[in-house]
Amino acid sequence: MSRFFSSKLKSLVPYTPGEQPKDNEYIKLNTNESPYPPSEKAIQYAANAAKKLQLYPDPECSELHSIMAQNLGVSKNQILMTNGSDEILNFAFMAFCDDDHPAAFPDISYGFYKVFAQINNIPYCQIPLRDDFTINADDYVGINKTIFIANPNAPTGIALPLSHIEKIVSSNPDNVVVIDEAYVDFGGMSAVKLINKYDNLLVTQTFSKSRSMAGARLGFGIGCESLIADLNTIKYSTNPYNINSMTMAAGIGCVMDDEYTKKNCAEIMATREFTAEELKKLGFEVTDSCTNFLFARHQRIGGEKIYAELKKRGILVRHFDKEKIADYNRITIGTKEQMTTLIDTTKKILEEC
Ligand code: PMP
Repeated sequence: MSRFFSSKLKSLVPYTPGEQPKDNEYIKLNTNESPYPPSEKAIQYAANAAKKLQLYPDPECSELHSIMAQNLGVSKNQILMTNGSDEILNFAFMAFCDDDHPAAFPDISYGFYKVFAQINNIPYCQIPLRDDFTINADDYVGINKTIFIANPNAPTGIALPLSHIEKIVSSNPDNVVVIDEAYVDFGGMSAVKLINKYDNLLVTQTFSKSRSMAGARLGFGIGCESLIADLNTIKYSTNPYNINSMTMAAGIGCVMDDEYTKKNCAEIMATREFTAEELKKLGFEVTDSCTNFLFARHQRIGGEKIYAELKKRGILVRHFDKEKIADYNRITIGTKEQMTTLIDTTKKILEEC
């Protein structure tokens, strides 16, 4: 730390992204990327957009907003596209939290929520999950805080029924409830259909998982017009050109090729069920995942040991040090072939350890 670093930020603990080692070719099952390439249309559109990189991108992102609105069945003014969904989440912390509206989120959830609260000097509380890692909606009823819930949750993979989400949103009418649906396309129920009913609901989604575009950095928020207007105030006060031209074009191509996304999601869900069954046969306990990853612990061998043994053998999964979940690993669903290799490698590890 330099002697110039702001005293306000000295205790900030940054988010740690999944490792990207360059020493080896790994089967990468640690950052919940799609195993499938982006849609051909997305690639073509991005390549065309590259020819005009001397120009700034459209700050209003008009064409992409229109096609997204159509795709989601909402109006253009109810969406805001951002640089990954991390950006809209950060915008939401900036826009809707303060000393009178502290943030609340589960103790086991997306690690960035805590960092966004800290960097924006927002007080926050973490609400414990139940022992089975489910969220108890009653813990969030009328709590008078700005609530952030990943649904399905990460890294547990478990989804909360929409009726529970609605209970949380309707019982906190004077606070914004943000539902982070980064993984919703893999079997969860989206809350987007509730945005016309509740003016305090913001739903966020991403192109990074189901739409195979993590490298492009594209996410979005959906909510009533006034919430989106507030988020636009933040956007135009930080980075009006938050979506670059190639990403914008790729996003349009991707939405035009929605069937491709749906086909990939179906494939990933089938591979997830196959992998979960195989892991159970090997003595793993696996949570009921509605995402593109599994959260699993072995009855005999610890999570860190399994993580390290897999890494030695060329497979990366994600291990978290946090005490409550230290026995577990989060395993991204890759292709069927990659998951078969994972199972075979795990069998060998269990024989040897
Ligand atoms: N929410 C959750 C729950 C996530 O796991 C992630 C991915 N790390 C994000 C949001 C952010 O993803 P992105 O910025 O790539 O859209």
